[in-house]
Amino acid sequence: MFKALLLNQVEGKTHAEVRRLNIDDLPEGDVLVDVAYSSLNYKDGLAVTGTGKIIRSFPMVPGIDFAGTVAESASERFKPGDQVILTGWGVGERHWGGYAQKARVKADWLVPMPKGLDAKQAMIIGTAGFTAMLCVMALEESGVKPDSGKVLVTGAAGGVGSVSVLLLSQLGYHVVAVSGRPETQDFLTALGAKEFIAREVMSKPAHPLESQNWAGAVDVVGGSTLARVLAEMQYGGTVAACGLAGGFELNTTVMPFILRNVGLRGVDSVSCPQERRIRTWERLAAELPASAYADLGCAIALEEVPQAATDILAGRIQGRMLVNLN
Ligand code: NDP
Repeated sequence: MFKALLLNQVEGKTHAEVRRLNIDDLPEGDVLVDVAYSSLNYKDGLAVTGTGKIIRSFPMVPGIDFAGTVAESASERFKPGDQVILTGWGVGERHWGGYAQKARVKADWLVPMPKGLDAKQAMIIGTAGFTAMLCVMALEESGVKPDSGKVLVTGAAGGVGSVSVLLLSQLGYHVVAVSGRPETQDFLTALGAKEFIAREVMSKPAHPLESQNWAGAVDVVGGSTLARVLAEMQYGGTVAACGLAGGFELNTTVMPFILRNVGLRGVDSVSCPQERRIRTWERLAAELPASAYADLGCAIALEEVPQAATDILAGRIQGRMLVNLN
């Protein structure tokens, strides 16, 4: 028997409850993992609260990421005792996920734990941090260098935002953080942010072209914020867009693209190819100093997930939230 957070539909509403389950209850898969840690991401908030129709079949164990130890494996790629990480692939959405002490999944979805990381650190990073690294790599691949100019991070005090601030500042970029919470300035300064802009300033409607402020940007907000970020990009700058915390629409013009050579890179973590995943996790292990993990977030128990899910949707979570399954 093991503990899991189980979602069910009761009178059309999503109901979350911690239950004891049997190994036989788990879905099919070729690797059984003893989960040590999962984490709370924005999408988990949507799933656990039943907002946004993330989950379509019930009962479901949510949790879009986890890290732990292989207990059984029918795949040649993994053997019992191996440390593994899983993010994305629809786990915690269509296939039972990480909010359980055990998970059975496809070997193809697992990434070997990179040298220098443990399960706790991997889930302090989690899907949000993995996505942050993908965004940083997208900027690098587009030629945005530390001496190209300032880089902007929106939704900076959240999961993707805070890891982006940390990674970019570790890599030598001058990071400007956009946040709706002035009280997070000390937190963001500790992660390396050099300047701050209030959320309402960046979400104001923009002219097709504004003054050229940013060599690069990581945007988790979308909507009018992304439109303004595009209008404020320097000639040849690139925006890595990965989120919709402020809205999924994008009303903009072609001007930044055709007059300033601005690039808009979409970033997806869910179906990211395996080879890029492995490289991204290795980069994370290499770039993040051991001392940074303590600054990034805090841990909660499985029983605390439903409240935390409400909090993340309300924008009340600072940094990353780890879910301890030990
Ligand atoms: P968090 O809730 O941790 O962070 C989001 C942050 O955005 C908040 O902390 C807040 O930052 C800001 N924010 C929230 N609501 C608004 C609003 N209405 N207007 C402007 N800013 C707002 O979520 P995550 O970091 O886990 O995810 C961020 C986004 O990235 C989500 O949309 C998520 O779906 C997406 N995402 C996409 C992935 C992909 O593969 N493409 C993978 C992971 C996440 P502050 O308080 O500092 O203003």
